[in-house]
Amino acid sequence: MNILLISPERKRKREEAFLFKLGFLNLPYIAAVTPRDIEVKIVDEACEAIDFDEKVDLVGLTAQTPVAPRAYQIASEFRRRGVPVVMGGVHASMLPEEAIQYVDSVIIGEGEISWPHVIEDFRRGELKPFYRPTAKVNIKKLPLPRRDLLNEAHYFPLKLLETSRGCPHKCDFCGVSKFFGNRYRNRPLEEINRELRILFPKDSAMNPIGKRFLSLINKDLPHFLKRRLLYIIDSNVVPNRRFSKELFTLLKEYDLLWWGHAPVSVGFDEDLLKLFSESGCIALNLGFESLSPRNLMAMKKGFNKPKKYKEAIERIHAHGIGIMGTFIVGLDNDDETVFDEITDFVINNKLDWALTFIMAPCPGTDSFLRLEKEGRILTRDWEKYDSLNAVYKPLLISSEELERGLRKIWKRVFSLSSIYRRIIKGPRIHPLFYLIMNWQFYRLTRSW
Ligand code: SF4
Repeated sequence: MNILLISPERKRKREEAFLFKLGFLNLPYIAAVTPRDIEVKIVDEACEAIDFDEKVDLVGLTAQTPVAPRAYQIASEFRRRGVPVVMGGVHASMLPEEAIQYVDSVIIGEGEISWPHVIEDFRRGELKPFYRPTAKVNIKKLPLPRRDLLNEAHYFPLKLLETSRGCPHKCDFCGVSKFFGNRYRNRPLEEINRELRILFPKDSAMNPIGKRFLSLINKDLPHFLKRRLLYIIDSNVVPNRRFSKELFTLLKEYDLLWWGHAPVSVGFDEDLLKLFSESGCIALNLGFESLSPRNLMAMKKGFNKPKKYKEAIERIHAHGIGIMGTFIVGLDNDDETVFDEITDFVINNKLDWALTFIMAPCPGTDSFLRLEKEGRILTRDWEKYDSLNAVYKPLLISSEELERGLRKIWKRVFSLSSIYRRIIKGPRIHPLFYLIMNWQFYRLTRSW
C-alpha cells in the first residue's frame, strides 16, 4: 500500500522564491505513526511538483487557512482519478463541514492519534467522514518524526525540533491553544536528547583548531559550515522554567546555534538569558504584536507590557542574543500613525529582524467570531488570509490604507539604511546570520 502525504502551496510570485524554506514536522510525525508495512512519501509543493498520476492508494493533505483552496484543488484532482483523500491540519479542524465537501475524510485536531485508525478503516473500505480524537496526543510517547522523507536540499540548512505543544493563553487572533490545547505538554528530556544525538552527532562538530581559525573570520561560521543550526518550533521555549533550564543545560552539550519563540517577559529572567546564551541562542522570536496597551488588552495579550519592551530588548541584547520581533497592524485602536510608530520602534531599538503582519482572523479563532458578529469580515477567500491582505474592515483606517501601510513598514524596515543601523552599526549580534535574514527581505521588498 502507498500513501502520499502532501503539504500544498499557493502559487507564489517569482521573487518570493528567494525566501528561505524551513521545512515542517507535522507530516513527518504523521509518517512516523503510519504502520511500517506501508510505503509513505511526502511532497512539499513549495519545492516540488505533485505528480497526480502517481500510483497511490491514499492521499493525506494538511493545510493552514491560506492554502486550503489549493488543498481542495489537489483533493479534486486525486479524487477524479479515484484516489481517496484525507485532510487534516488547522483549517480542516476549524471548518470540518467545509473540508468534507472536498475530501473523503477529515481529521479534526492533532492527527497522530486518528491517523492509524484512518488507515485501519481505509484497509477495510470503511473510511468515516470525520475523525475526532477524544484526547490530546501523548507527546511523551510520540515516535521521532520521519525527517528522512523530506528532501534536505530544499531547505535552509537547519534542523527543526519540537519539545512541547500547546499554550495556556487565549490571544484572540491565534489558533494554537484551540488546536493543540490550552496547557503545555512537554516531551521527556531523554527523548529530546535521543533526537538531538541523531540530529547533531557530537563527532560531527568542527575540530577545535578549525573552529578557532574560522571563528577569527566570524564566530558563527563553524556552526553554519557544519550545519549545527536548530530551530525549536514550540510556541514558547519556556513552557515552564524548570523544563527550560534542563533543556538548555542539555543543549549546551551540543555546540550548536538555536532560535525559538519566547514571551517578552523572558527579557527580565537573567538566569535563563544567561543559559540561553551559553547554549547557543542566536535569536529569540518575540511576539510584541502591538505598541498599544489597549490593543493588547483587546486581543487578550495584556500580559505584554509595551512600557517594558525597550528594557527587555536591551537586556536580551546584552546577553548577545538577537531578537526577531513580530507585530500586527489593523487592530481596532490602530490609526494611520501605527505604521511609522512600529517602523521607528524597530529601527530605534535595533531589532535584529522584524516582521509585521495584518491581523488574519483565521476561522476558528475568537477574532474571526467577533469580526463576523460585527459584520466586518470582507471576504471568505481563504487565500487572502495570509496576513498580507486586509480581509476585514478595520475601524480607524481603510483596508487599502492598511495594505499600503504594511508594505511601507516592510520597505522601511528592510531598507539598506535600516539594515545598516540595526545590524552593522548596531549591537552587531550574530551579524552574518542577521545580514542573511534581512537581505532576503530587502530583495523581496525592492521588487514591490
Ligand atoms: S500568540 Fe502565543 S501566547 Fe498567544 S495564544 Fe498564541 S501561542 Fe499562545
